[in-house]
Amino acid sequence: MSGKRLCKPTVKRALVCVILLAMPVRSAAPSHAPRQAQVSRLPDNARVRAALDWFTPNISWVNDQQARITEIPAPPFQEAQRAAAVKELLAETGLPAHIDKTGNIIGELRGLNEKEIVVIAAHLDTVFPPGTDVKVHRDGSRMAAPGISDNGSGVAALLALARAVQFAHLKPQRTILFVGDVGEEGEGNLRGMRAIVDTYRVKLKAIVVLDGSGTDHVTTKALASRRLEALITGPGGHSWSDFGMPNPINALVRGSVRFINTKVPASPRTTFNIGQIEGGTSVNSVPYEARLKVDIRSESEDELTRLESALRECIAAGVRDEMDSARDRSKGKLEWKVELLGSRPGGELASDSLLLAALRAADEFVGNQSRIERSSTDANIPLSLGIDAISIGAGGSGGGAHSLQEWYDSAGREAGLKRALLTLLGVSGVAEEKSR
Ligand SMILES: [Zn+2]
Repeated sequence: MSGKRLCKPTVKRALVCVILLAMPVRSAAPSHAPRQAQVSRLPDNARVRAALDWFTPNISWVNDQQARITEIPAPPFQEAQRAAAVKELLAETGLPAHIDKTGNIIGELRGLNEKEIVVIAAHLDTVFPPGTDVKVHRDGSRMAAPGISDNGSGVAALLALARAVQFAHLKPQRTILFVGDVGEEGEGNLRGMRAIVDTYRVKLKAIVVLDGSGTDHVTTKALASRRLEALITGPGGHSWSDFGMPNPINALVRGSVRFINTKVPASPRTTFNIGQIEGGTSVNSVPYEARLKVDIRSESEDELTRLESALRECIAAGVRDEMDSARDRSKGKLEWKVELLGSRPGGELASDSLLLAALRAADEFVGNQSRIERSSTDANIPLSLGIDAISIGAGGSGGGAHSLQEWYDSAGREAGLKRALLTLLGVSGVAEEKSR
């Protein structure tokens, strides 16, 4: 059931739609009862109990790893050092780990059935450029640093889960891969998750993504998005002597004004953002190039396609306007292009999936209620291919994501860790006895 279909353009219906989307996940329908019962019994298993009980006495270890990982810079496309540290920590738990050719770190816990795989993943990268001060400032349960929550908390939870299952000598039915993946943020374009899905596609049964803090939501719907760059080039020249020649910045501004006046529907919700604009070399030069980066998102792929076309038309029109008003066209003309920097496909988890049943059972165990969300995460890739996936927070609380004021509070993080572990084991299954 998609939010889109629920949302009719009347005030009353719109209200109903909001309420339904914000509604906590209810217990499963009767037809899902056997699956639900199966995952609900997990905590009765002594080894599962032991893994669940590992968290509380080891919370300060988890917090310390989070601070340590966060202080290793991981700008886009530069995650190697952080991946190496995570590899070492996974190896310490006794899990064989390797770094794949994309840069993902993968720790493997073999199941009884090695032909089926479930993945638990946390992205390693941050949005912060090299040189950002990532020193963690701690005050009681609170930690502050860029990237501490997104995704220091997810990576710390990944390590904690690995540690807990190893401590408990837990053997899953399906093989579990503990993955620290690269390229989730910005122009990384989910390349790490794309590679994981590509490599394990035929065996892959489910993916649980840990991203940021909290226990309040579960992302089961992938928000489709595209990132585009418009580039306008021209001959360039001197501000005084070449006055009147076509100016790429003028053209970009003209095109941008047209674009930001584009009408987008409230339902299906569709958004755009001009996030970066650059060009020119000095104030007294006619620039030879200008570029802008735009992020567009929608609940509907059709709306995305429409908006992408609108951007191309607006940039073309901006160039045309500038050429038409140029006093001197003898020194050359403007060229333009709009390129796709990245695309995140949409998709949705089936409401009767084992993964959702596992999450519901986990929520019940920790006394939590999850709000279903649509968002753009690593889960987009598996969901767009029909592979079961969710993205959840790693517990605790946090704020200021993608800002220098980012913070994380570990109070209550055990609930998030238990919820993630039970969800994971709900889809991997647990073997009765670990073979020694
Ligand atoms: Zn994130």
